[in-house]
Amino acid sequence: MPVKRSDKTPMPVHDAQLRAHDFVEVNTGYTPAHAAFEAERCLRCQDAACVDGCPVNIPIPDFIHAVAAGDMPKAAQILRGANPLPSICGRVCPQENQCEAQCHMVKRFNPVAIGHLERFVADWERSQPVTARPNVTRQEKIAVIGAGPSGLVCAGELARLGYSVTVYEALHAPGGVLRYGIPEFRLPKSVLDWEIGVLKAMGVEIVCNVVIGRTIKMDELFENMGYAAVFIGTGAGLPQFLGIPGENLNGVMSANEFLTRMNLMGGYKFPENDTPLKVGKRVAVIGAGNTAMDAVRSSLRLGAEAAYIVYRRSEKEMGARIEEYHHAIEEGVDFRWLTNPLEVIDDGNGWVSGLKCQKMKLGEPDASGRARPIPIEGSEFVLPVDNVVLAIGTTPNPLLTRTTSGLLTNKKGCLVADENTGLTSKALVFAGGDAVTGAATVILAAGAGKRSATAIHEALQQGAAVTH
Ligand code: FAD
Repeated sequence: MPVKRSDKTPMPVHDAQLRAHDFVEVNTGYTPAHAAFEAERCLRCQDAACVDGCPVNIPIPDFIHAVAAGDMPKAAQILRGANPLPSICGRVCPQENQCEAQCHMVKRFNPVAIGHLERFVADWERSQPVTARPNVTRQEKIAVIGAGPSGLVCAGELARLGYSVTVYEALHAPGGVLRYGIPEFRLPKSVLDWEIGVLKAMGVEIVCNVVIGRTIKMDELFENMGYAAVFIGTGAGLPQFLGIPGENLNGVMSANEFLTRMNLMGGYKFPENDTPLKVGKRVAVIGAGNTAMDAVRSSLRLGAEAAYIVYRRSEKEMGARIEEYHHAIEEGVDFRWLTNPLEVIDDGNGWVSGLKCQKMKLGEPDASGRARPIPIEGSEFVLPVDNVVLAIGTTPNPLLTRTTSGLLTNKKGCLVADENTGLTSKALVFAGGDAVTGAATVILAAGAGKRSATAIHEALQQGAAVTH
């Protein structure tokens, strides 16, 4: 426990040397004593700026006050009322850029650990019996495409409003990135399964192994299957590549492929489960966002002896959550900042043997607002590696939009949708999450799903009907 109230109560963690080689969740969670102490740090501000910093405007001081008062049912009720995925967001939200960045404590001290308290309350709630029940009061059926956070939250809200909801998911298990992307050591599958269990208890039907656009065309959902409205939450799962020589060598993978194989094929339970992943002794991951951090830390757990982050900008421009970055340092990840990959080197047999890189310096900000990396001539070198994992971004998969007429996308391939409602260019077709924004965050996807559920309800109450 900290002795100073100016410090954030640290999150207890597993030992870095041990955890770097297993998939057990790194953060072990606050005890009731930690939570009570941390909750008392909240200043209960009249103008609670933290609420504005939260994309779904959780009444943060209210739930923290309930924790301080020891009223856990009330704290859980307040949290869930605003955020349908608290146990997930308490673990993965970038609080340092959102609620905690706005906390008035930061003017002089550390902010209140809002994320850790959110997780504490949500984990308490998970220890209680599930009380949710089906409540179908409306005649209209709604289809949700994609079982990621946007689709799941939309489905849950619609079920709460009395609709019969079916979620169609392309993969064999629901969760989207929460299942196939974020590893067990950051977000245990049991936490995700519990949240999905609540949705099922509410009557939400989840049908896996159905690719809308292939197995069933989107228009068939309206014409043959009688759905009154559709929500698209198909995410941004198409990986980008660098276009450098050697990218097609054996041993080069996108982070999506690497993490999907590991998470969905059970590689995190290696050696109990087989996994087709072949991870060498030295792995370079290109990029410095959450995906890169997950891939590089996973590679250590899968047996790599050296794991590098190769990033062309500096630590300051890195997109990853600060906690993941600190955990990665503790676990022994080697960060090569201001380093740009030029070519993947062939070992002569079609396998990776190294990554040719060039050192960079930073210039004026570019279109992204971040300092532009500028090559330093004559600074080329080869980093000897056995695997290269690309974590440089993703875009929406074009399958659905290519097989559905009248669904407009922008230049980046993202669905065009109304900011407030998610309504797309097709009547009674709504969309949200990464499919609309491009790769973003869980809470933004969840917020979009919630807003679209309200918009669908309003449209149907006003008697809107499909005339596609
Ligand atoms: P997704 O989670 O991508 O879910 C979309 C679902 O739709 C998938 O299950 C997909 O299989 C399914 N689907 C796609 N097409 C079809 C189709 N045609 N028919 C049926 N189903 C379909 N965000 C954070 O806030 N914090 C983090 O720490 C964080 N870490 C991340 C780590 C990784 C490795 C990755 C990849 C992302 C991370 N993110 C993080 C981002 C966050 O996970 C996403 O912004 C969020 O999951 C987007 O939710 P979504 O519902 O829009 O899409």
